Amino acid sequence: MTDYIEYGSKRIDFRLEYSDRKTLGITVTPDLDVLVKAPVNTPVEAVKEKLKKKAPWIIRQLSFFLSFHPRLTDRKFIGGETHLYLGKQYRIRVMSDELGVIRDGVKLKGQFLEVYTRDNTKVKALVEAWYFDKAKERFHKMAEPLFDKFVSKHDLSLATYHLSLRQMPTRWGSCTAKGRIILNPELIKAPKACIEYVIVHELCHLVHHDHTQKFLDLQTKEMPDWEKWKSKLERLLA
Ligand SMILES: [Zn+2]
Repeated sequence: MTDYIEYGSKRIDFRLEYSDRKTLGITVTPDLDVLVKAPVNTPVEAVKEKLKKKAPWIIRQLSFFLSFHPRLTDRKFIGGETHLYLGKQYRIRVMSDELGVIRDGVKLKGQFLEVYTRDNTKVKALVEAWYFDKAKERFHKMAEPLFDKFVSKHDLSLATYHLSLRQMPTRWGSCTAKGRIILNPELIKAPKACIEYVIVHELCHLVHHDHTQKFLDLQTKEMPDWEKWKSKLERLLA
């Protein structure tokens, strides 16, 4: 069943499941579901009482995941339009190559994102492919040394480096139990430190699998100014 509580000005929806267990458990999933598992026969009022007590924690968890919602904006991919790359604005300049001697492609030049093509309808695809290539190259360069440092520091000898990119509608990154790190290629639009923050965040999940205080303490130890980069990322892209 689903129900909700009110806490201050916030409404927290939750899903309640009864099961054969002794204590009440609350989890916040990456899909922003608040899932409550309660012992059979627990009155709903008691569940709500407990949720109210835990509300600050739940809100923190929810806001945590919420911040990982990339903003989807309508872009036209035409000359003059600005696009972000590593936190800086670049203006698209379409270089129509009448002679057709240059192959289709994208180049960063000064404050311009130069797109070479004879076909204007291909600008978007070319820019997106360029972003993806850059993301692949840059993320690996950043993540591998961070990974090596992290696993030796925390003695995670079983973890092997594996990074992949995946367009995720609601998240900047994720980390599987086996230590596979997945990053959203959209991140390439953010400053380097923001990307590092997401990588560090995912690496910390190799030690703690949820967003408990222990997790946050570790993240702070690994990157003392993470909050600054998290809010920068949110301001810029989320
Ligand atoms: Zn996380």
